Order: sequence, then structure tokens, then C-alpha cells
Amino acid sequence: MIGILRSRSLRFWVAMGMVIAIVPLFVSAVGGFFLLNRGVIAPFDDVAMRQREQRVPIQHLRLLVWETLPPVDEFAEKQNHVAPPAYRAVREKIEAEFARLEEALRAEPATLALLERAQADWTQADRHATDIISVVTPVSQDQTAVTLQRFHGQVEAVNDKLTGVYDRISQKISDDHDAALRSYERSIWVAGIAGAVSLLAMAVGVLIVGRILSASVDRLVNGAVRFAEGDRQHRIEISLPPELHRVAEEFNDMIGRIHESEEALSRLAHNDMLTGLGNRRAFDDAFREVQDRKRRYGEQAALLAIDIDHFKRINDRHGHAAGDEVLRSISSLMSRNVRPMDKVFRIGGEEFVAILPGASSGQAREIANRLREAIAATPVPIDENAIAVSVSIGVATTTQAREQGELMELADRALYEAKSTGRNCVVLSGEG
Ligand code: GH3
Ligand code: MG
Ligand code: MG
Repeated sequence: MIGILRSRSLRFWVAMGMVIAIVPLFVSAVGGFFLLNRGVIAPFDDVAMRQREQRVPIQHLRLLVWETLPPVDEFAEKQNHVAPPAYRAVREKIEAEFARLEEALRAEPATLALLERAQADWTQADRHATDIISVVTPVSQDQTAVTLQRFHGQVEAVNDKLTGVYDRISQKISDDHDAALRSYERSIWVAGIAGAVSLLAMAVGVLIVGRILSASVDRLVNGAVRFAEGDRQHRIEISLPPELHRVAEEFNDMIGRIHESEEALSRLAHNDMLTGLGNRRAFDDAFREVQDRKRRYGEQAALLAIDIDHFKRINDRHGHAAGDEVLRSISSLMSRNVRPMDKVFRIGGEEFVAILPGASSGQAREIANRLREAIAATPVPIDENAIAVSVSIGVATTTQAREQGELMELADRALYEAKSTGRNCVVLSGEG
């Protein structure tokens, strides 16, 4: 599982991070929508409905009930004939309002029961009122006064019960209102928490991706710097993200290829094409190292300056190609006759140098003589001829050189001595 996740691309992780950051916001948006809808908008709608269809009609009904008193009172007192129709008009409105309210309170049995008791009281009141206004000439003033009193009592009873209904509805409205406010507050909390979780997820995502990226990019940059400084062995190790892993692998391959071609170029630059020995440049490097080691560690070394005798004659007699063959043959002979740590270089046409690390003048002379004898004893076969070749060798050691660079001069001077004393011989510097 972890392996599968590790192999995912950077693009995948960025997309994943975005999804993780957005999901809480999305959930909070959907949740908030339902919460607002059910917890806030619906209760507020309910509040508006109750206000419109219950509370306002109840108030209206209470006023209407009070409005029945003046026409009945007036009729009882003065038998005013305008009063009964006025009363009946109000009564009609009252009954219509009762019917409407009954409909509106159908879902609330307790409140509806209270309304029905108010209605029963109203029926009673209406009966008293009807008794009063339907009489053409009052039988007795006292009787009318009693009925009027009862009518007033019933109207008050209706009003009390309607007040009860009104209070209940008001309480419901207030409860709905509080519930809506609580839901509203809750939805704000949900949105706030979702926002915070989203921010946290984003921060964690940025941190993780950032850490992975910066560590990998640092390694890439470090690898490039080391490459620029000449380090060809360093390899960049990046496992995550896969994109940078591939870049690192390509970079490592490229460094490997550059290293190989640099080595090939260096070999070409430091090797003599004809003989395969180190050339003048390789000798200069090796000679510098000899001098360094002497200066730093006091290590001794000897130098042989080797020159083929009368080489021009060989060229003249047998041709340039034969001369080349002689150069090749002598080079290989010399390489085979020195110690493993010694090195032979071709520094000019038919001029060679051998560096013998750690060799005393005695050892150097011995090696020089071994070379000289091997060459003299090995004629080079060309066509049907065997060309006899000899070399003259000048020997000098670092102990003899008083200052840097003098060693080569001493060896050259000894070689010159060897040439002048008859060739095919070895001369140690200072002996001539
Ligand atoms: P000495 O004994 O005094 O050293 O005489 P020498 O003839 O060897 O010396 P000199 O310096 O007069 O001649 C060197 C010759 O080496 C001259 C040149 O034509 C020849 N030579 C130089 N480089 C090459 C090469 O690469 N191949 C061949 N075949 N000949 C070369
Ligand atoms: Mg020469
Ligand atoms: Mg020569």
C-alpha cells in the first residue's frame, strides 16, 4: 500500500492535497445548506406563517368580540333599530374568523381545544345578545339587565380564552424564533470549523509537499554543484517525487557518460599514439608529482634520460616506417624491463624518460643498464633485416638535485656525457 502511494506522481499528490483541502469546505457547504434550510429558514417561515395566519387573526377576533358590546348595549338602553344589523354584521365576521382560525390551528390540538372553548363561550354570549336584540318591547327592564350582564360576562370569558390562545401562539413563535437563532449560530460554527479544517489540511499538504520537494531539490542542486566542482563519483539519490527521481537518474547517467568521455579524452591527451607510452604532458604531470612527494614526504626518486643512438641513420637506411617500428619495439622492451612502479614516457622523437620512484642511484644505474643491455641484445626485425639498436642513458636522482627542476637538467647532462663517451652506455650524473 505504502509502496503504491510512494510511486504516485507529484501531480497526484498536489491533486490529492487539493481534494483533502476542499472536502471539508464542500461538506460544510452541503451540511450548512440543509442546516440553514431546516434549522433557520423553515422555522422563520413558520414564524411568519403563525404571525400571518394565527396571531393577527386572534387579535382581530378579540377586537371583533369587543365590538359586539356597543350595539347590544345601545339596543338594551334605547331600542335603537340600527343596532341589531350592526351586531349581526360583527357576528358574521366573528364566525368567519373562528372558522379560519380553526383551520389554521388544526395541527395543534391543545391550542385548538382552547379555541373551541372560546367558541363555545361565544355561542353562549351570542345567545344572550340575540335574546336582547330580538325583543321588540322589553318585558322587564330587570330581565334585560340580567341578560346584558350575562352577555358581558360571556364576552369577557371569550376574550380571556382568546388571550390564552394568543399567549400560546406567541410562545410558539418565540420558541421557533429561538430555535432558528440557535440553528443559525450552529451553522456558523460548522462553517468556521470546516474552514479551519480546510486551512489545516492545506497547511499540512503544503508542508509535506514542500518538505519532500525542498529536500529533493536540495539534493539535485548539491549534486550539480559537486559536478561543477569536478566530482565525478557523486551520485544523486532521490526517491520522491518520481518526477525528480527520474531527473536524478538522468543526471547520474549523464555524469557517468561525461566521466567516461573525459577519461577517454584524458587518455588521448596523455598517451603517445605511436608507442602507447605516456607522452610529454603525462611526463610533466608525473614529474611534478615526484617533486611534490619529495618536498612533502622527502621521498626519493631517480630519472633516466634515454636517447636512441644514431636514430637518424636508421631512418635514412631503412625508411621512416622502419624507424617507427624501432620506436615501438624499444618502447615495449623498456616497459617490460622496468619495475612495476616505474614509468616510461616518450617525450620527443627518439627521446624517452623513465621515472623510478624510491630508487637510489645504485638501483637506478642497475635498471638503466638492464634496459640498455636488453635493447642492445634485441635487434628489431624488419623485412629480412634485423636492425641493431642501442641507447645512451643519463641517470640523476632527487638527492643530487639542489632545487626543483634541476633533476631533469642533471639527467640530460649525464645523457650528453653518455653520448660523448661513445654511446650505448649509462652515465650517472656527477660521474662524467
Ligand atoms: P644521436 O645518437 O646523437 O642521438 O643521433 P640521432 O641521429 O639519434 O639524433 P638526431 O637528433 O640527429 O636525430 C633524431 C632523428 O629522429 C631525427 C628525426 O627524423 C627522427 N625522428 C623523430 N621523430 C621520429 C618519429 O616519430 N619517427 C621516425 N621514424 N623518426 C623520427
Ligand atoms: Mg635525440
Ligand atoms: Mg638520438
